[in-house]
Amino acid sequence: MAITLYNTLTRGKEAFEPLDPARIRMYVCGPTVYDYAHIGNARPVIVFDVLFRLLRHVYGSEHVTYVRNVTDVDDKINARAAQDYPDLKLNEAIRKVTEKTEAQFRDDMHALGALDPTVEPRATEHIGEMRTMIDRLVANGCAYVAENHVLFHVASMPEYGKLSGRSLDEMIAGARVEVAPYKQDPMDFVLWKPSKPGEPSWPSPGGIEMPGRPGWHIECSAMSAAHLGDVFDIHGGGIDLVFPHHENEIAQSRCAHGTQVMANVWMHNGFLQVEGQKMSKSLGNFITVHDLLTGWHRYAWPGEALRLNMLRTHYRQPLDWTAAGLDEAHKTLWDWYGDVENSALAPDAPSAVLEALSDDLNTPKVITELHKLHRAGHFEELRAALALLGFSGERARIERVPQGDSTGSADTGEVDVLIAARSAARQAKDFKEADRIRAQLEAMGIVLQDAKDPKTGELTTTWEVAR
Ligand SMILES: [Zn+2]
Repeated sequence: MAITLYNTLTRGKEAFEPLDPARIRMYVCGPTVYDYAHIGNARPVIVFDVLFRLLRHVYGSEHVTYVRNVTDVDDKINARAAQDYPDLKLNEAIRKVTEKTEAQFRDDMHALGALDPTVEPRATEHIGEMRTMIDRLVANGCAYVAENHVLFHVASMPEYGKLSGRSLDEMIAGARVEVAPYKQDPMDFVLWKPSKPGEPSWPSPGGIEMPGRPGWHIECSAMSAAHLGDVFDIHGGGIDLVFPHHENEIAQSRCAHGTQVMANVWMHNGFLQVEGQKMSKSLGNFITVHDLLTGWHRYAWPGEALRLNMLRTHYRQPLDWTAAGLDEAHKTLWDWYGDVENSALAPDAPSAVLEALSDDLNTPKVITELHKLHRAGHFEELRAALALLGFSGERARIERVPQGDSTGSADTGEVDVLIAARSAARQAKDFKEADRIRAQLEAMGIVLQDAKDPKTGELTTTWEVAR
């Protein structure tokens, strides 16, 4: 079956043609390990896990190599280490932070049903490759040494800006570019920099005597080349990485290897917001995967419900994360699993599901097809389709556990979820379900008041705690 994918580089959907069908190669930018992954971090993990599974299905699991890096050199890691382990030497403290965070990340992603990538290389294990690449860029005139830094000279790369579709002038105007005195041009970016005393450091490239450490962008260029070669099939990540991170990766890799492309297909997932707002710590709506799995809006949610809720939105669209959406995703799975868990497994997912998935990962369409299979009683096929998408099909794995003292505005959140579910039931004329929810709310001591907006005629529901 032909797979088509939207390519950010060409701004269109293209038939996917692997460089070598016996070895499909995909790279996705991974986590910087200093804190729990938030749900925005989970989106690319789930999206590219679905793509990984589809590629394995089509080309055979032993023919697909998926590399996702672990950034374990970063200022945020250093800061966290100094804060959490003030009594330890910085390097020791850093190791504690990165090991702990990496293990948390792995556990969270397993809970979301994501397969481990084939390789998860760490930046600190590839410093030698980064140094070699930087030396090559200096030697061929694409990079220069200044004040113990090595900088990439953007003017040496005529196609810089092609991925993000912006001209150099636009980029300079749009980006808050740090104009350090050692830069020849404002857009030039750091490949290597000196370490501060006590910080992790390695012998420097470019003939610099002072030890230092790599910039962030070079790590992906070096690690993708080490594990996938100079040119590979698919490079993925969040839309926020297009500029400057991916633009810089392309510049470094193409100039170091003398190639026309770094990867043939560039894929980016859209932004994620929470209840219609930008997610931020200052707004108090910052949600980690760990929060969701351990207690959010009254429940410890199963990872599979998180996964389905993510996939309800097409990966290129912005995603609005809501408690009502999560609740609905959970109900859907509960419904499906009740019917599929005792049924046999069809030998393959139905072609309608595979076709939708192969059409640039059209997961909303896939979910529509799953509903159709369920309604038609085709449980064996539904189970096979769920398995392909990374869902267990077992109710025991998706129980949500009530949490009395969970984080967030727990009670209000639960009430809002139930009211939204009741409104949806009423709109669908499922009055039995609507009455059941009203009774459930009454049992919680919540009294509902339905009213009609005199202007719009819209039905609204308010609530209060019964005295
Ligand atoms: Zn990267």
